[in-house]
Amino acid sequence: MKNWLVKIFFRKKVPEDELDESTVLYFADCCFPVKNDQAVKLLNNGMSYSVHRSICLKSSNPSDPQQKSTNFNWDVCKKIKLYKSKIAVLIENEIGNLKTVIDCIVCMRINIFSINTANIFEDFFECTIVVEIEDLVVLNRLLDELGELQAVYSAVRYLES
Ligand SMILES: [Zn+2]
Repeated sequence: MKNWLVKIFFRKKVPEDELDESTVLYFADCCFPVKNDQAVKLLNNGMSYSVHRSICLKSSNPSDPQQKSTNFNWDVCKKIKLYKSKIAVLIENEIGNLKTVIDCIVCMRINIFSINTANIFEDFFECTIVVEIEDLVVLNRLLDELGELQAVYSAVRYLES
């Protein structure tokens, strides 16, 4: 957090639509955009950009109405290897099922950054998992693999409504 602030305070203003690899980017945690998503950028106080998925409500209704969203090109992110993505997985409430889900993620050599359980019912529960992932292809492959598991009812990307 501290480094992030230092970077921002000592930077020159970012000219509109002139991004390069040194531009400060903030990948929004309402929609967790990953490389190759259809995405937009919103200029924050002229010094950094927030990146949202195009389908995120905040991309069309930013909290500051002065912000205008423009298409985001992932080419400026060559140096970023991993992106955080949050997924919501509905898991059948049986012995070992959570382990099966975690094993599936680990087998794909994907790091789990955080995990939470919510919406617990008699027969199933929801797990929100933040994974660190290279791009959209890997993320979609992970969702497919999880969806194939007998222990899993559904596996989808998180999107704040
Ligand atoms: Zn968003």
